[in-house]
Amino acid sequence: MSSPGPGPVAERRAVFLDRDGVLVVDRDWLTRPDEVSVLPGVPGALLALASAGFVLVVVSNQAVVARGLVDENGIRAIHEHLDRELVRLGGVAPSTYYFCPHHPSATVPEYRTACDCRKPRPGLLLRAASELGIDLGRSYLVGDRMTDVAAGWRAGCRTILVLSGRHLAPPFETPDPPDPDLRPDWEAEDLPAATRIILGDAHPHHEPR
Ligand SMILES: [Mg+2]
Ligand SMILES: [Zn+2]
Repeated sequence: MSSPGPGPVAERRAVFLDRDGVLVVDRDWLTRPDEVSVLPGVPGALLALASAGFVLVVVSNQAVVARGLVDENGIRAIHEHLDRELVRLGGVAPSTYYFCPHHPSATVPEYRTACDCRKPRPGLLLRAASELGIDLGRSYLVGDRMTDVAAGWRAGCRTILVLSGRHLAPPFETPDPPDPDLRPDWEAEDLPAATRIILGDAHPHHEPR
């Protein structure tokens, strides 16, 4: 993915965040802003991560677009509402959102493709890294499904599986399912617990003087 020549220096650290089941209640088909329900502790967790210098990047499969239930502008409206909710609840909005609108068997023809961005493929993370200058090897992925963990692993990130969503659900339809032996680097109850792991891992012991 790397190319020579000018471009952002990959030095920023990111936390890549799945949306449904990590930031908000997973409602299967979330198509309207008023269906957004922020999970407990999420605003404070995002604030803590941002304060520690992490870029917060949401990476989300949104097959609702491929199914024609909402268009891409509708997804953006949901994310703008989520931003406002997070701030209203004392947190911070993520830096940016990347979402995959595709599905291999989409009902909307223009979205019917085995794209590179639908997790477990790492395309969303790789695009964000390139556009935002993120050092993937020093970044984290937090997701509630092994498809998220696989995308993070394939991008070279450290991975945390949270148990606040659909970790027991069957895998997504995908041309290249995760290796059944793949495990996350950590498991955590929810995003606040994952945040404690990340902040603990991010601050190595001070060298004795
Ligand atoms: Mg999820
Ligand atoms: Zn895609």
